[in-house]
Amino acid sequence: MNNNPYAWIEESLQTIHRADWYRSVKTIHSSPGAKVILSGHEVINFASNDYLGLAADERLKQAAINAIQEHGTGSTGSRLLSGHRELHRELEQMLSSTKQTEDAVVFSSGYLANLGAITAIVGKRDLILSDHYNHSSLKNGAILSGAKVIEYPHCDIAQLTEKLYQQRQNYRRCLIITDSVFSMDGDLCPLPELLDIAEEFSCMLLIDEAHATGVMGKTGAGCAEYFSCTGRELIQIGTLSKALGSLGGYVAGSNALIDFLRNRAPSWIYTTALSPADTAAALAALKIVQQEPERRQQLWQNVNYLKQLIKEHLPHLKLLPTESPILCLQLPDAATALTAAQHLKEAGIFAPAIRPPTVSTSRIRISIMANHERGHIDQLVDALKAMQV
Ligand SMILES: *Cc1c(COP(=O)(O)O)cnc(C)c1O
Repeated sequence: MNNNPYAWIEESLQTIHRADWYRSVKTIHSSPGAKVILSGHEVINFASNDYLGLAADERLKQAAINAIQEHGTGSTGSRLLSGHRELHRELEQMLSSTKQTEDAVVFSSGYLANLGAITAIVGKRDLILSDHYNHSSLKNGAILSGAKVIEYPHCDIAQLTEKLYQQRQNYRRCLIITDSVFSMDGDLCPLPELLDIAEEFSCMLLIDEAHATGVMGKTGAGCAEYFSCTGRELIQIGTLSKALGSLGGYVAGSNALIDFLRNRAPSWIYTTALSPADTAAALAALKIVQQEPERRQQLWQNVNYLKQLIKEHLPHLKLLPTESPILCLQLPDAATALTAAQHLKEAGIFAPAIRPPTVSTSRIRISIMANHERGHIDQLVDALKAMQV
């Protein structure tokens, strides 16, 4: 046996290239904002999750700097050993008050919050029903939990019900998991119907509010608020890394749930506590989300403006169904999506191609922010008009 055991890596990379699935990083050389410097060129930024424009806000920066001055850069240990600070607790209390849940716990990222929560609450004897379009962190959390995982077609309540009829009685606990705003499509899960089904079949329901936190609902509390489901028993996951302009994740829910996670979620117990700077920045962001609803209003005005322009000027492009600041234009294949993204970039627009394996159909994904100006959106539409696809 003199085969190089690592040779397959090069071969796999070749396959990825041939399928137009190859990806690489792009460098941004400026502060977050509506305009950024991408590989040396100024572009209007439609690729950011910074929906409220908080990632470069002076108050977040100052909060982070103050936290570093007071607590240093690292939190030096896990929460249960030497990593816990009063700041963490303040942030958790602010999250649970925003969400109107009994308690909340912060993780080092949204990804880790999903892995931690799912693996803690279900295991080998249990069943997970998972929306086919769910985020990677939900899917991998489900696999890691060891539970039986069944996917249901995207937002298909009839199919979900059918599968529960067939399977529910064969398992101890059952957990339904779903994005609330679907990250690569921009549509919403049918939350009230999911809550009813969960109740009917005695299932827990976990929603991932990553793109909804700060964005959806009157006070920015997410889709639970948007659908008037605040207060119903539910496990709510989210991130501090999108509209909140920081880094980290959270789970919000009942006292018992959160206390249980602090004792059983491995991705919380065995990892270093969120850094003081990230914690303080997220806390400052949550206060702004509460105090400045005009940011959300501006965001939605921008979303509606773009939707209107697409309808009027780009009837040939297929806009996927959306009720969020994420707008996707469907394209026939990965190569076309890449060409389109390249064309947009040359026209000064940063809107990435999203391709398999992230999604099953290729698209240009546009995310709108509160700090976009009308002129930015006009330029996007002009560039889309000129695009030959
Ligand atoms: C971004 C995202 C995550 C991961 O959150 P991070 O804090 O970036 O790790 C999880 N779920 C969904 C739906 C997301 O869009």
